[in-house]
Amino acid sequence: MNRAHIGRFAPSPTGPLHVGSMLTALASWLDARASGGTWHLRIEDLDTPRCTAAAERDILQTLAGWGLHHDGPLTRQSNRTAAYQAALSQMAAHVYPCGCSRREIADSSVRGIDGPVYPGTCRTGLGEREARAVRVRVDDADIAFVDRLQGEVRQRLSRDTGDFVLHRADGLFAYQLAVVVDDAELGVTDVVRGADLLDSTPRQVYLQRLLGAPTPRYLHVPVLLDASGEKLSKQTLARAVGAADAPELLDLLLACLGQPATGPGTLPDRLQRAVDAWRPAQIPALRGIPAGPLHTQTSRQGVTAK
Ligand SMILES: [Zn+2]
Repeated sequence: MNRAHIGRFAPSPTGPLHVGSMLTALASWLDARASGGTWHLRIEDLDTPRCTAAAERDILQTLAGWGLHHDGPLTRQSNRTAAYQAALSQMAAHVYPCGCSRREIADSSVRGIDGPVYPGTCRTGLGEREARAVRVRVDDADIAFVDRLQGEVRQRLSRDTGDFVLHRADGLFAYQLAVVVDDAELGVTDVVRGADLLDSTPRQVYLQRLLGAPTPRYLHVPVLLDASGEKLSKQTLARAVGAADAPELLDLLLACLGQPATGPGTLPDRLQRAVDAWRPAQIPALRGIPAGPLHTQTSRQGVTAK
């Protein structure tokens, strides 16, 4: 076992896996297995109103049915709030309460890389306002990292995001904080995930530095797009994937990743061939690729042709 490679897959249990999330699950599993490393599963269930136990069960059944078995115990973000609170305390010198409403921020802000750039209104104190969220103070330094596939990504957080939220007005810890704390706890060395998160990564690198946590290697694979160029998601009615879909979908997903077909055989044999053939450099270095036939097949959504 290669302790130098620790990967993970981190789905949100808000519905079944779909072809887009299965693509990143497969890529991260292959990357870990091809390097003899370990692969962890983390359930990102912080957004409790939208997460269900049924969806979690469905995801676990699907991964098991595909033969994508994880190492070690499953972790759930909902059990980790004490660790997020501890990280927030550790960064006390860099964070401050913010009393701005969403509307105020939208009205007074320029657009950045991922929504409005927070104008720093509460940096010097709340005044008459009540604290709603907790933000981290960013600086003017460039943050750059080299993605294994997408190349160099560079941002200046003061210009591109502004001071960003770590603890939300609704009481939930922000994704940016949770993912950094959890990856550090697991000792993740290689994050393989969808390129829709590429623009979040510099914020995560910034938090890693404040927390003294190492920065993992990153491999952001293209996300699958529907015919109108939208990322496949539950909202765009992406095809749900179940345990029984592996034989049919495996080679189609591998083709999206620029990998060769596995040919005939049992699923374990085919997965082993995919591991042996895994060449991350052959993945298209794009943020998104058309899902094509993966999107239009609907075997699990009622129109059963089998
Ligand atoms: Zn504010």
